[in-house]
Amino acid sequence: MWPFTRKPKANQAPILFTNTLSGTKEIFAPLRAGVVSMYSCGPTVYAKQHIGNLRPYIFADTIARILADAGYHVRRVINITDVGHLVSNADEGEDKMLVGAKRENLRPEEIAERYTGIFLEDLTLLNILTTDILFPKATEYVNEQIEMIKALEAKGHTYRTKDGLYFDTSTFPAYGRLGGGDVAQTREYALADLGRRIKENKEKKHAADFALWKFAPFGVERLQEWPSPWGTGFPGWHIECSAMSKALLGETIDIHTGGMDHIPVHHNNEIAQSESVSERPLARFWMHEAFITMNGEKISKSLGNDIYLSQITEHGLHPLSLRYLYLGAHYRTPVDFTWESIEAANEALLRLWRHTATLKKEAKGIAQDSEASRRLIAVVREDLSTAAALALLWEAINDDELTPKEAWGVVEAAERVLGLMLTNPPEDVLPKTLEELPSHVQELEKQRQAARKRKDYASADALRINIEDSGYRVEDGPSGTMFIKK
Ligand code: AMP
Ligand code: ZN
Repeated sequence: MWPFTRKPKANQAPILFTNTLSGTKEIFAPLRAGVVSMYSCGPTVYAKQHIGNLRPYIFADTIARILADAGYHVRRVINITDVGHLVSNADEGEDKMLVGAKRENLRPEEIAERYTGIFLEDLTLLNILTTDILFPKATEYVNEQIEMIKALEAKGHTYRTKDGLYFDTSTFPAYGRLGGGDVAQTREYALADLGRRIKENKEKKHAADFALWKFAPFGVERLQEWPSPWGTGFPGWHIECSAMSKALLGETIDIHTGGMDHIPVHHNNEIAQSESVSERPLARFWMHEAFITMNGEKISKSLGNDIYLSQITEHGLHPLSLRYLYLGAHYRTPVDFTWESIEAANEALLRLWRHTATLKKEAKGIAQDSEASRRLIAVVREDLSTAAALALLWEAINDDELTPKEAWGVVEAAERVLGLMLTNPPEDVLPKTLEELPSHVQELEKQRQAARKRKDYASADALRINIEDSGYRVEDGPSGTMFIKK
């Protein structure tokens, strides 16, 4: 449910998104009036998602907010991969879910439950609106996947090797279209991926061909396996997105999102499967976010430079500092994570919250639209220019020419599209007045004020340290003294 009570105001600014299909910015309008369907490739729930893995969902939430603000009903799906994603990211190696199960001595479904739970908690901490999102599990859609593979087989798009049933990419002439690459280039990407594979399947006709159904190894009981017309086994990784997108959102959807690493293989494979069956476009807009890096290298579990949201909160920073940091850059630009940059983002967000809390009182919570609020919305509609929107927000807060109600209108507009808890900042980070402090701290502060009055600065400083040791930072300012919980 769109959580804002006011009806979104009509704003004439067009919505422009960069479509990976064309490589250009295009004006967005959905296929069906008033409704947008959107599918985002989701996590493999065999381990915790690192902060790089979380960027795609902040990105997709921002798209959904912009569309909801424009009055659209946004129908969303994020799939939960709980089978079939092999460690090589191609068709070989162990299943990540079984790796997780072995590591923790649990069943795959227990691993899935544990890490889906942590993932959903992280989304909530990042103020991602999840109530309208469906989170289907791949294991709950095995029948739909089998049906789609049967349709592909009936149309002559498959062949069999000793380890599985494969999609024959030579039967889909447009293969590799996404990302501007031609077939040869996409196959090259696939070959590079193959280079990392544990062992190559020599029976594959082309390097880019990929598994639709993998057979369970003979004589070994796999913890996750299903009967199928081709033998007992499990679905390939790519087919789940094609099957679930069709089952839950229809044959052609408006927007499909994911990380840029998905362009060459995973998304071209989804297109090949879905469009071979339906003979219609799978998605009208393909949108991809760039990587979060550390010292210039992609954050990744396998590189061992992974950082988690829980580490950021353990560091004493608010989880939304991560959202603030990511919104400070364009989604198609990589962001290099450093502890200095996240601390600076946290500091900026705390300052922003203090400003918006004061402004709310001055405006009595009444918002008025102005050129400034309309401009902010227009800017985010321009291919999610969130950094520019943040700059406009700061400008509006410091702009004496705006009335408090107009400035509050800018804050409300920013909140609708940026999701930074600007209209309801967390209470514990806001400055406290003397009366709101615990009584023993109030007593210390009264003594400190008395010491300052008699110009006994040594005692005043000692008392300030006492107050700080009790957990409150003291800020003496022109409008009085404020106390901030440390
Ligand atoms: P994976 O579990 O590797 O499939 O990743 C889940 C999602 O996170 C995918 O959409 C990836 O493209 C994305 N992703 C993975 N690593 C990063 C990263 N370092 N920065 C941004 N996105 C990433
Ligand atoms: Zn996918």
